[in-house]
Formats: sequence, C-alpha cells, structure tokens
Amino acid sequence: MEDLEGELGAMREYHDGGNTRDASWRRAQLRGLLLLLLENQAEIFSALQQDLGKHPAEAYRDEIGSAVKSINYALHHLKGWMSNKKAKLPAVALLTTAAIIPEPLGLVLIISSWNFPIGLSIESLIGVISAGNSVVLKPSELAPTCSSFLARKMPLYLDTKAVRVIEGGPAIGEQLLLQRWDKIFFTGSTRVGRIVMTAAAKHLTPVTLELGGKCPAIVDTLSSSWDKKAAVERILGAKFSACAGQACIGIDYILVEQKFCSALVELMRVNLKTMFGENPKQSRSIARIVNRHHFQRLKSLLDDPKIRGSVVHGGFMDEDDLFIEPTILVDPPLESAIMEDEIFGPLLPIITLNKIEDSIRFLKSRPKPLSIYAFTKDESLQRRILSETSSGSVVFNDALIQYLADALPFGGVGGSGIGKYHGKFSFDEFSHQKAVAWRSFLVDFWFRFPPWNGYKLQL
Ligand code: NAD
Repeated sequence: MEDLEGELGAMREYHDGGNTRDASWRRAQLRGLLLLLLENQAEIFSALQQDLGKHPAEAYRDEIGSAVKSINYALHHLKGWMSNKKAKLPAVALLTTAAIIPEPLGLVLIISSWNFPIGLSIESLIGVISAGNSVVLKPSELAPTCSSFLARKMPLYLDTKAVRVIEGGPAIGEQLLLQRWDKIFFTGSTRVGRIVMTAAAKHLTPVTLELGGKCPAIVDTLSSSWDKKAAVERILGAKFSACAGQACIGIDYILVEQKFCSALVELMRVNLKTMFGENPKQSRSIARIVNRHHFQRLKSLLDDPKIRGSVVHGGFMDEDDLFIEPTILVDPPLESAIMEDEIFGPLLPIITLNKIEDSIRFLKSRPKPLSIYAFTKDESLQRRILSETSSGSVVFNDALIQYLADALPFGGVGGSGIGKYHGKFSFDEFSHQKAVAWRSFLVDFWFRFPPWNGYKLQL
C-alpha cells in the first residue's frame, strides 16, 4: 500500500496493453484458481477451521466444492460467453450487420465478506477474470487466516500483473475506495454498501452490491410426515449448518400457522439432536461465531427484555469458545431487535400466523429480502408468493440451493442488493456490451436526409 497509486497505474497500463483480453489468458487464470483450491485443500480446511470453526465437510460443500463447480462451468462456457452476438436491425438499416461485442470493463475492485471468505472471493474472481478484467481483491480482515492464505497463495497461481490481493480492514477499504476503478463489486452490510456507492459516485464507477437482510421461510402445514421431515432437515441444515447461521441467504426467521407451531418445534428438536447430538457444543458440525463483537451482538439479541419467555429451545452460549447453541424462539415481539435486525447467527425466531396466507401481507410490509423460502405444495400459495412479493430469489421446499445454480442470477433487490452474478450473469456484470454496426456503402434511402418537405413526412 506504500505506493498504491503507482501500483494501480502499472496494473492499468498492463490491462490497457491488452494482456488480459485473450481467451488463453482467461483460461490460464481460471485453471490457476482451480489449482489453488485443489492443491491447497488441507490448508484451506485449516484456515476455515481457525477463522470460523468450520468442519472440513461444510468447508468443502460451501467454499471449495461450490467454487470448483463454478470454475469448471466458466471454463466450459467461456468461448460462448466471449463470442459476438449477432443483432437484427430494422429495415431502415438496409445492408447493415450488427453485433454485441462484450469487452472487459478494466480495473475491478472486489471487497469481500468473512462468512465464506474463500468461496465468495473465488466466486466473484471467476466472473472478473472470465470477462478479461484486472482485479484487486480485498478480503475481509475478520477471517484473517483465510485472507492471508489468499494473499500468499494467489500470486503463485495467477498473473500478478493483473490480479492482486490487498489485505486490511475498513481503513484500507476506504483508501482503496478513493481510487478510480472501472467497477466495484462489494459483498457485505448495507451500511458499508452505502459507503461504497457514495465513493463510486465520484468517478461514476458502476457497482454491484451483494448485501444482506432478513430471509424468511414460510412453512405450510405439510400433510405427509415424509414432507415434514424433509422440510425440517432442510430448514435446520440451511440455518445452523451453513456457517452457524452467518449466511446472507440463510433463513432468518420462520412464518407458520399457529396450529402447526408446536409440532414444528418438536420435529426441530428431534432433528437438531440427530444433527448436533445431545450436547451441540461437543459437535464439530457447527461453526463458531466469527469474533467476540458478533458474539456480544447475538447475545444482546437474546438478552433483550422484550423477548423474555420466547426461547423454546437452546440458548446456551460460551464466549470463550465463541459457541452459541442452535436456538429457537416462538413469537418474539415484531418490534424487538431480533425481528428488526438481520440476525446472522444461530438464533431462529418462529412467528405464528392465523392462516399461512397471512405470510404474504407480512412479507409485503417488510424490506425486500435476498431470498424467500416457502415449504409448501400449495400451488396457489406458490403463485401468490411469486406474483405478490419481491426478493432476490424464491426457493420452494429447500434453502441455499440457489447459490449453486450457475444458470440463475444471484443477487438482491431493493435493500438486499444491486446487480447479480454467477455463471453468465457474472460475465455480463463485469463486461461492457458494446453495440457495433457495419453499414454497406451500396444503397441508401434518399428520404432520410434533408432537405425536409411535406412529401418526405408522408413517407
Ligand atoms: P461489512 O460490511 O462489515 O464488511 C464487508 C467488507 O467491507 C469487509 O471486507 C470490510 O473490511 C469492508 N469494509 C468495512 N468498512 C469499510 C469501509 N468503511 N470502507 C471500505 N470497506 C469497508 O460486512 P461483513 O460483516 O463482512 O458481512 C456481513 C454482511 O454481509 C451481512 O449483512 C450479510 O448479509 C452480507 N453478506 C451478503 C452476501 C451476499 O452475497 N449478498 C454474502 C455474504 C455476506
């Protein structure tokens, strides 16, 4: 960071020299990312264990495996993404051919989050590199082992003139935001998202903001016991086994009919025991809270006098181990902090309703979430959710699975984010779609040029 402007100047010069444009360069970098993940699996497992207490199985599913899948998808589709797309023109453009040609945006800044410190960084890099850009990645300082791993290892696998990692916290982030970028891709909180967008405005830099919010899960009174069991397993898996609820698309709270609530809680209790045993603190299958600050934040949500009496399961905490037991609450007041703020931890409030259809009005009265989940086979309820609510994504009868879908755009709407990525959507997000037309000199319509007269108007 001693001579940031000089270093960025050199990166820009390298980029402007066309060094990152060829498909061969892009492929080599994507393969570099792949090798980085595959050859350093043990070190990544250990870094994720150290920063977040993630079990290797969870780390593989959420960070290495998902990124490997995305890299292979990009390698497979790169040629098609990079190709010019022919465009049809109206008859007035006689003897003209036209195409949309994707071109790299230039120098990109990625500011990333700590909850999936490897997976989220790599996923955004895939799009940036596929589109032929140069990039500076600033991982989150709150996952320091993973951040240092990326800073040490990426130069061994990628073109250091075009891809750099700069480590640091908010102060470094602010310094980076003072520079001129051709695109800023940010993953994090709404608060910092605003800071990023304000800084970007100075240079009219386009931004992608991958933010958070409260993702609800509507749970209908499923009739078969098979469906109920599957729904509960998927809910608990999505809430407690993905970074212990510290996930932007994790389930924040549940909406359920009053009459089904106690049966649902009972099913959850049974399945929690299967997943995390009698004493979840001994289980290696649940990640830890990232640091004391976030531990205290979550503790204060539970200590809130407004929610007294609503905890029906769990509630055990151990600050030294940064452990919070999977905790279920029923009907905490809607004006309590746990129902107003994004929880981002293993606390799961259940809000009861008279009728499951009331969930639509409930969701419409709140900010647009990153995802809405609905466990229901009722097609009319599904249709109403799709047509009457707005969210980054909707998933029926599962949760988190949309993150793996390269063919679906991943991103928020309203307060949950701006822009989208994954697969071709990433390539497009980091490309400029240049409109190009080639006109023949052969013929033309005489009436499209002055001098104007009434006859030309009638034509
Ligand atoms: P955060 O906003 O505190 O930090 C995100 C990044 O911004 C970090 O790299 C941090 O160092 C940097 N930063 C912080 N202050 C800055 C400043 N003043 N100037 C420049 N950079 C600054 O968020 P977090 O705690 O890392 O992540 C939690 C939030 O991120 C949650 O709201 C969660 O929902 C959201 N999130 C969203 C997604 C998504 O894909 N939509 C994924 C993960 C997390």
